[in-house]
Order: sequence, then C-alpha cells, then structure tokens
Amino acid sequence: MLHYLWLLLPVAALSGWLAARARYRGRRATERKEPRSPFLSSRYIRGLNYLLNEQQDKAIEVFIEMVEVDSETVETHIVLGNLFRRRGEVDRAIRIHQNLIARPNLSLDQRRQALLELGKDYMRAGLLDRAESVFHELVEDGIRQEEPYRLLREIYEQEKEWQRAIEVCRQQQKIGDRDLSLLMAHYHCELGEQELAQGALASAMEHARTARGLCAACVRGLLLLAEVVRARGDSGRSMKLLRTAAVEHPDMLPVLLPPIIEGFQRENDPAALEDWLRSLLEARPRPSVMLALINLLEQQGRRQEARALVEEGLEQGRMSAEVMRRYAGLLAEEYSRDDTSPIPVLSTALARLEETRPAVQCRQCGFQATKLSWQCPGCHGWDTMRPLDEWQNLKESESHEP
Ligand SMILES: [Zn+2]
Repeated sequence: MLHYLWLLLPVAALSGWLAARARYRGRRATERKEPRSPFLSSRYIRGLNYLLNEQQDKAIEVFIEMVEVDSETVETHIVLGNLFRRRGEVDRAIRIHQNLIARPNLSLDQRRQALLELGKDYMRAGLLDRAESVFHELVEDGIRQEEPYRLLREIYEQEKEWQRAIEVCRQQQKIGDRDLSLLMAHYHCELGEQELAQGALASAMEHARTARGLCAACVRGLLLLAEVVRARGDSGRSMKLLRTAAVEHPDMLPVLLPPIIEGFQRENDPAALEDWLRSLLEARPRPSVMLALINLLEQQGRRQEARALVEEGLEQGRMSAEVMRRYAGLLAEEYSRDDTSPIPVLSTALARLEETRPAVQCRQCGFQATKLSWQCPGCHGWDTMRPLDEWQNLKESESHEP
C-alpha cells in the first residue's frame, strides 16, 4: 500500500505535466503549422505504465531517455529528481536539481520549485544546514507556498532553535491566514523553560507571559508561569495559578496534581490538601484525583477510609486498573496473617494489567506513550498528547427475564 502512496505523487505530477505539455506542444505545433509529434507522448505513456506497474527502474530509464532527447524540459527534470529521491538515490536527485538551478533561463516559479525540491533532497540526505539555507532563501523571498515554511520550522524544531522557529511563523503568517499562535506559544514555552533552568527569571517570565498572550487556552503557558512565579518566591500565587489550571484543564490533572500536592506539603497543611482533593473529586471525578486522595489517607494511616473511598467509587461504576491495584494492596495488609490469601496474586495480576495501559495518547495520531511530551513523537503535532485519566466504566448488570 505504501508503495502505491508514493507512486501516486510522481504519477499525479507527471500526468499534470503531460496534460500541460500536450497543450503547449499542440499550441506550438499550430503556431508553426507542424504536425504534433506522437513520439514523446507514447514514450511518456510507457513511462507512466511502468510507474503504475511498480517497475520503477524501467520508468526511470524512460524518463532519463526523455531528458536526453529534450534537455530543455524543466518539469521532467524535477519529476525525475523527485523519483530518485523517493527511491532513496538522493545523490542523483541532488545532482539533477542542482543542474536545473544553475540554468540561467529559468522562470522565477521554476527556480523556486527546483530550490524547494533541492531542499527536500538535502533534508532526506540529512544535510540539514544546506536544507536550512535553501528553505531560508525561499522564505526570505516571500514564497507563497506553505511547504518551505513548514520544512524550515521542522529543521529549527530538530535543532531546538526556537527563536528562529518563531521568526518563521511570523513570516508564514504574512502569506496566509493560518493561525500559528499555539505553535508560537509552545516555542516561547521552550525558550522560557530554558531560561528558567538557567535561573534567568525575568526572561523566563517574559516568555511565559508571551505564551499566555498568544494562547490563553494553552495549559503549558500557565504551568510555566506558575513555575517562574514560584522560583521568584511567590508560592501563594503559584499555587493559585496551578489550582485554577486544575479546574480549567481537568484533562491535564495527572500533570497538574504533583506540583499542587507539593505546594500543600510545603505549606505543611495536609488538612487543606484533603479538603481540596475531596472537593476536586466531587467536581472532577477522575482516577488521578482518587489516587492522590488514597495516597494521602494511606500516609496518615487511614487505610479503612481509603478502602471505603474505592468501594464507594466502585458502587458508582468507577474503576481503573491502578485504583484496583491500590485497593488490592489495602486488602492485602488487612489479610496479611492469612497465608492462603489470594490477594498477592491478584495484586501482581493487576500491576501487570496496569503496565499494559499507556499513560498518555495523542489525540491526533493515536500514538501512545508512558510520558507526556508537548510535541507528539508520532505525528510531531504540538499539544496533541493527553493523559489517559478516565474510568473504565463498569457496565450495569442487565437483568434477564427467564
Ligand atoms: Zn501524534
């Protein structure tokens, strides 16, 4: 299937070119009052047939012959170069596209197209600095095509050149109406986190604020702001920001809870933490909140209450592998004197079940992981991963009539 996918691209390009070429040749033949030569067309169709039959080598042979016969054809060179690149013969692709660019009589569009393809060749060959300078030239030129902007951003993302990536977003916004604020907010967060790690708090604060201004709904900016505020010594305001984030972004609770719990612990106020967790569990009944409450109760030796909490949840149909493992742990303690207790076996089984469940998943491509990344390793989308923090709801038992 994949084979077909890549085949479709050159085929589409070729058939488009073929149609344009036929029109052009037809027009030229009429102008010169010459009969249209069937030679190239039949050769072309032969090449296309080879491509469709997955005979790439023969297709390439045909196109090479065509290039030799009609060396002026820019489009054939571009298609042939692309074919080589897709087949992994990047050196040949680079040579073909470089030769094209060296021609003095190219139109502006042809030169830009050849440059774009050359940049893609360099990227494929791993020559990122060369690809960067090619895409940079196109972007500086104000090319009205999104691809070079996107590819240049990809390079800067790989190189963690966030400031440059922001600059590319700004330039891209001049040529189209695509909203890139979420992307720019994440780039500012990357910069802010770097500054925070180096203790440059004023600059970190500026990036956090810019990120918040660009994307108010972006939880990462809020998290960064809370961290910077805390680093500046204002724990109270930091906690306030985090608690607001917990209410506004319940899907991020597994990420937000640890720093909030730490905050309460710093203030040495377990009673306030318990109140807050209980009211959060009521408003946002999620496994992560119940687990945090179980932890707190266990730390205080209130195992019976922790057990009751789980049992109450079970009555409401709320179950998750992790909560059940903790429940088995609470029971194991109680029956520890009983050598025949099956609970340790159950605990082990539940722990294994829990391990098979990923902790986070990308909402865009479905990529699963154990740890949250702001950029999905699968589809490279930003802010698309979310913790899996839902109950595996129990189905209500149906009563069957005899
Ligand atoms: Zn993804």
